Amino acid sequence: MPADKLLADVFGFDAFRPGQKDIVAAVVSGQNTLAIMPTGGGKSLCFQLPALVRDGVTVVISPLIALMRDQVRGLREAGVSAGALTSGNTQDETDEVFAALEAGTLKLLYMAPERLASGGTINMLRRAGVSLIAVDEAHCVSQWGHDFRPDYLRIGDLRRTLDVPLAAFTATADAETQVEIVQKLFDGVQPATFLRGFDRPNIHLAFAAKDGPRAQILNFAAARKGQSGIVYCGTRAKTETLARALNEAGHQTCHYHGGMEAEDRRIVERRFQQEDGLIVCATVAFGMGIDKPDIRWVAHADLPKSIEGYYQEIGRAGRDGAPAETLTLFGPDDIRYRRQQIDEGLAPADRRAADHGRLNALLGLAEALHCRRKNLLEYFGESPEPCGNCDLCDKPAEIFDGTTAVRMALSAALRTEEWFGAGHLIDILRGDLTDKVQQRGHDSLPTFGVGKEYDKRQWQAIFRQMMGHDLLRPDRERHGALRMTEAARPILRGEATIELRRDSIRAARGSGPKVK
Ligand code: ADP
Ligand code: ZN
Repeated sequence: MPADKLLADVFGFDAFRPGQKDIVAAVVSGQNTLAIMPTGGGKSLCFQLPALVRDGVTVVISPLIALMRDQVRGLREAGVSAGALTSGNTQDETDEVFAALEAGTLKLLYMAPERLASGGTINMLRRAGVSLIAVDEAHCVSQWGHDFRPDYLRIGDLRRTLDVPLAAFTATADAETQVEIVQKLFDGVQPATFLRGFDRPNIHLAFAAKDGPRAQILNFAAARKGQSGIVYCGTRAKTETLARALNEAGHQTCHYHGGMEAEDRRIVERRFQQEDGLIVCATVAFGMGIDKPDIRWVAHADLPKSIEGYYQEIGRAGRDGAPAETLTLFGPDDIRYRRQQIDEGLAPADRRAADHGRLNALLGLAEALHCRRKNLLEYFGESPEPCGNCDLCDKPAEIFDGTTAVRMALSAALRTEEWFGAGHLIDILRGDLTDKVQQRGHDSLPTFGVGKEYDKRQWQAIFRQMMGHDLLRPDRERHGALRMTEAARPILRGEATIELRRDSIRAARGSGPKVK
């Protein structure tokens, strides 16, 4: 049956989604394929449909038992012979799968990667007439990623042994992960590669500097009362405190994090899936495998870890295509925390540098001066027009030449030998005679009091933007003291200028009570 007809008859879809048609054609024709599509983009169809066109059985490697079971159920309902071999199987289920394999009627065989550890499985597959291997969540093969599954490394062997085409799928678009996938799954030979459909035009993008963050989240939720939403939090403790605050404000709210009992986590997942209008305050542990189409909003109470993380997390909203909204909060403490996480991680130096780069990309998005979606999609290799559906398209940022302010700040850092944080540097710039300033004799520095034209909060906004542009970085060996980066030198030397956003500085001035 031709692909178009299968699409309608078996899957019940009128048309392919962006990218699906080309991917399906490549997989059907037996090419090795790597497809990078965002979560919800419709990856499963790209191996399920070819599995039906091709002779023999397609082995699908997936790390998520719940997802495998869902897909098998869906396929069976559509009249397709599919089965799964997972640790969750009953003996009857397993027997049934083997019988169908034996009879040569099975079209799709789902399998957890752990299965590949047994020689019996490989022999069984060798006899089963496998014509295609599909690998879901292929980034799990990346040793540096947080979803690393050691058993994914066995897939390369499986491909060599069976000598059949392999189609790998992932939503992770960063270049390094792709290189690793090509190395580990395809022996370094570049497969036909597709990167498609990263734009999710129905999701409204917005960032805000933290300014009473709990109230910011409560306001955001209050304006969306009764809608399903997720609040991603940087720590487990915060999932609980924020959930409490939201409940007190009259929302139905649960918390969710990796430290909870599996059973409690499952209850939250199930409630979220089934109920309308539930809010879940969660760490990033929540989401992989959640397939709720009508999540109307996603908020980040803290800055995500990288631009990919951000994209995945906001991408859980609005999968039904109806308007959905997001808000990501960030502040200098987040930047410090994320940098520290990278520096204290066990990754080798080049990997850490790449992680800083991914964080910089996110900070660039947070401090963007123009359309956020354009900024985001350019990171993923697409080149769209301004979107009309982000906070900066709604209300363009006011930009000013921040070169002088930035130079003052850099000079304050240098004259104090890069041993201090923003708070003390701001006291110097503003000419505040604090005890610390006097003890260190910093009131005699030429920079003392040169920055009186900005108040404390405006300076905080400037320092945050400087950290966002990676001009200053906290040094953990100096207890988080801000040190100048290479990127800052041309500005200090007068060889480059820098634009800053004025609106965030104004907003900082406007909303008063937090001045220390
Ligand atoms: P992914 O694995 O990329 O996250 P899925 O394969 O689970 O995404 O697909 C996401 C949703 O989109 C599913 O509900 C699926 O049924 C639906 N879908 C996939 N392809 C199409 C299509 N061509 N037309 C309409 N809906 C589709
Ligand atoms: Zn825009």
